[in-house]
Amino acid sequence: MINKIFKNKSLLPVIQFVTLFVFVLLIYGAIGVTTSDKDFAIILRNTNLANLIVWSYWWPFIIVTAILFGRFWCTICPMELITSFFGRIGLRRKPGNILKSGWVSTLFYALILVVGIHTLAIHRIPQLMAIYMLILFSVAVISGLIWEKRTFCTYICPIGHLLGLYSMISAKKLRVKDKEVCKNCKTKDCISKANHYNFTGRSCTSELYPATLEDNRKCILCGQCHKSCTKDNIAILKRKFGEDLFKNIKLSWAEIAFFMMLSGFVVYEILSEWKVSKNIVKAIPNWINENFEVSSNFTGTVKAIVLFIVLPTIFYFLFALLKKYLAKEDLKIAITQLVMAMLPITASMHLLKALLKTTSRIPYWNFVFSDPKGIKTAQIIMDNSDVLDKSLLGTISPIISIFAILLSLAGIVFSLLVIRKQKFTNNLSKLFSIIPVIVYSFMFLIVLIAWRIL
Ligand code: SF4
Ligand code: SF4
Repeated sequence: MINKIFKNKSLLPVIQFVTLFVFVLLIYGAIGVTTSDKDFAIILRNTNLANLIVWSYWWPFIIVTAILFGRFWCTICPMELITSFFGRIGLRRKPGNILKSGWVSTLFYALILVVGIHTLAIHRIPQLMAIYMLILFSVAVISGLIWEKRTFCTYICPIGHLLGLYSMISAKKLRVKDKEVCKNCKTKDCISKANHYNFTGRSCTSELYPATLEDNRKCILCGQCHKSCTKDNIAILKRKFGEDLFKNIKLSWAEIAFFMMLSGFVVYEILSEWKVSKNIVKAIPNWINENFEVSSNFTGTVKAIVLFIVLPTIFYFLFALLKKYLAKEDLKIAITQLVMAMLPITASMHLLKALLKTTSRIPYWNFVFSDPKGIKTAQIIMDNSDVLDKSLLGTISPIISIFAILLSLAGIVFSLLVIRKQKFTNNLSKLFSIIPVIVYSFMFLIVLIAWRIL
């Protein structure tokens, strides 16, 4: 079924046009809706229909699909459509080494996280969310006009590394069915220059050759090679869940830095769900903000820099350096081992966050269709929060609690299995992988048990 969909010449582009239309509608639904009151913004983010869809459903959907099925979001992403279109009429320059390093994507994500979300609150103020979406759109257009192929998807997209890293867990992969057929293939339609700018049936514009794909990170599942291959030799195939995590994958420094940031973000997102752990996790940034009298406009910036950049860097490098100096492991290999081992527990907690977010927004659905802009509803809720009907949330709460514990346990087991299969120079190096995984995982488990069960 999936392969039929990917083979179809018009279905996926039509879906991309639909998602582009929805993207424009979401911008329209958010533009002009704003507030300078921080407390009001916390309610408005859920009463504005566009904002509710983007941050509480669309974004969690991307995370869940990436972990379970791979980069299927990219298959229907409107940015791919836009940047590929402008790539056809643009200058077609070759991307330089800075773009190819992957750091642009990592820094773009850091900018969105630190400045966009934790300084400007683009996730709470619909108008700012609309501006953010317009910026994304503009970057896709401009990069399409300047660089060849679809440089935006390959080297600039701020969630490219996130989708790439999580897609290593997925149970699906796009690969050639028979490598021998490729060896004997004279036309190589899947990488032929002549096909780079076809509307459908393009050769790969992500700098990949399907016959040599070894892992899921870079293939954005656009399905173009699927259609271009004249030998019908490409397919979406099943594979073992988490298969790439058990391979000897070499991550780039940009991917490593991205993951460290992501892991800090997931820790904050889960721990800030419970008042007690929220106070603990915010203790250091709060101390800095108070003692250095940071302006209230920038307390979120300090919090994000400390929690998503400084602390994760210290945590990962502490164990990587122990591996290097005490266990004689190469530094990059040491930190890659840590990232691969931490990935399952991080992904499982990210899944949990997606579940908590989507379910906690259920009470707002009673209001969003009668007042899609959400200003009036937010005012009503601000005056009297009892108008929110939370009875369904109460009913499903025990199920979510069980799911939360099971997810964290599954993440821990999966992470330990990855360590078991990894190759270490000696047992000391292995120990310096086990200790951080245990510390990191049990922090989630203990908080979840204390918050949801006790
Ligand atoms: S066009 Fe098809 S058969 Fe030829 S090299 Fe590409 S994937 Fe292999
Ligand atoms: S190999 Fe390239 S063309 Fe094929 S699905 Fe992946 S990104 Fe698209």
